[in-house]
Amino acid sequence: MILWGQTTLTGWGRTSRAATSAARPHTLSAVQEAVQNSPAILAHGLGRSYGDAALPTEAARAILTDQLDQLVSFDPQSGVLVAQAGVSFKTILETFLPRGWLIPVAPGTSFVTLGGAIANNVHGKNHPVAGALSRHILWVEVLTADGRVCRFSRTENAPAFFATLGGIGLTGIIVQAALQLTPAAGSCVAVTQHRCKNLEDLLAAFTSKPERDDYAVAWLDALSGGAALGRSIFERAHIAPGNAPVRLDGGPVFPLDLPSFALNPLSIRLFNKVRYAWVGRANPTLSIVPHAQFFYPLDRIQHWNRMYGKRGFHQFQCVIPDAAAPQALPKLLEMISQSARASFLAVLKRLGQEDENYLSYAMPGYVLALDFPNSPGTPEFLSTLNKFTRDVGGRVYLAKDSTLTADDLAAMYPRLPDFKRVLAELDPQEKFTSRMAQRLGLRRTA
Ligand SMILES: Cc1cc2nc3c(=O)[nH]c(=O)nc-3n(C[C@H](O)[C@H](O)[C@H](O)COP(=O)(O)OP(=O)(O)OC[C@H]3O[C@@H](n4cnc5c(N)ncnc54)[C@H](O)[C@@H]3O)c2cc1C
Repeated sequence: MILWGQTTLTGWGRTSRAATSAARPHTLSAVQEAVQNSPAILAHGLGRSYGDAALPTEAARAILTDQLDQLVSFDPQSGVLVAQAGVSFKTILETFLPRGWLIPVAPGTSFVTLGGAIANNVHGKNHPVAGALSRHILWVEVLTADGRVCRFSRTENAPAFFATLGGIGLTGIIVQAALQLTPAAGSCVAVTQHRCKNLEDLLAAFTSKPERDDYAVAWLDALSGGAALGRSIFERAHIAPGNAPVRLDGGPVFPLDLPSFALNPLSIRLFNKVRYAWVGRANPTLSIVPHAQFFYPLDRIQHWNRMYGKRGFHQFQCVIPDAAAPQALPKLLEMISQSARASFLAVLKRLGQEDENYLSYAMPGYVLALDFPNSPGTPEFLSTLNKFTRDVGGRVYLAKDSTLTADDLAAMYPRLPDFKRVLAELDPQEKFTSRMAQRLGLRRTA
């Protein structure tokens, strides 16, 4: 028999929360029982989505998937891994990177489950060459609303497959999946780093990146403006030979919620100045670093989200299409810099072609992602940024979102009607639902 307990779940930004009844099943039959006995329910992975994507509605229950964490099989010839959906990227990397196999698409934290990563169709710093995670998923097995476990792939109910990839948990509970790993030259990363004095410099760095450097990212000072607008540290990288130990322990725990005054424009400006002067150099410098140092710098401090205090923070992440970028990016950065609301974690990277899933976030363009402490007026400011993004033909990323409206979503995601049609076929009673789905009008009921 499955046990239910009361808990409060939050998004990673801690601005959205849900008091709910939750179960943590170990077996497929327990998941089946939980789904069957709940009128409304939602899978919750490691809770690394920033807003309300992983939060059940008031009437719904939650299935915490982190105990469904078996590595089921691995074929060393093909590199195909079959794993249960609650396995974390941390576990996959620690197990397979020392054997020469890499997850081809890595978000900025290894503390995500395979199921959660599929449901948001995550992307990494190599999207133009590797696409999003969906490109490397061969099939998924999903427990659907009718209680059956169905296999979806490009050849088995393709519409349900493309609705599940990036489908924010609304097609059912992903129980296991087949992931194509990619051969890795080693567990080190060759990183070339240099400073860019402004946005023009930075965009030139992205376009002149050598081909073998599959990964590219810039850390931006979002408070700088005027001639220094877009001042940043640019990094490009490729996987390098070497056997650095693959340990993704998470490091020390951020011990307390900082008071809200601790992060203010002055302290953040100072941090950005020091980082820019200290870390970056004007001329490109090459270093060979362990895998986690390049891919997961934020994982070095557990619960770093406490830094923003009890009020939490929002992350805004948009993609600006290439055609609009030369005009839109400087305008967007000016709006952010003038607001003096931003925090220090601003990231710019590239996306390539749209992915196959219905709610594909990708389009060829620039991704800007940054944190905003949750202070009075922040949600309204984010709505302004959402509108700006929508007006220039861009998209806001659902894994980070907490403020989009149903109209914004419809304008940004052109294949939304197809997604809704497949959802209506798979789950006419709307058993799988979330606060995000409610807010964005993806499900009619609470
Ligand atoms: C520091 C940091 C950096 C990040 N960097 C990136 C990045 O570079 N690129 C990127 O794409 N994302 C990034 N993210 C976002 C993160 O990758 C996604 O939010 C990811 O989906 C989180 O996985 P999770 O297991 O925590 O899922 P959760 O956040 O718990 O859930 C995410 C969604 O998946 C659904 N879900 C979870 N498990 C299942 C399942 N078994 N079956 C069906 N649905 C399920 C949930 O209902 C929810 O809709 C970052 C997040 C953090 C905190």
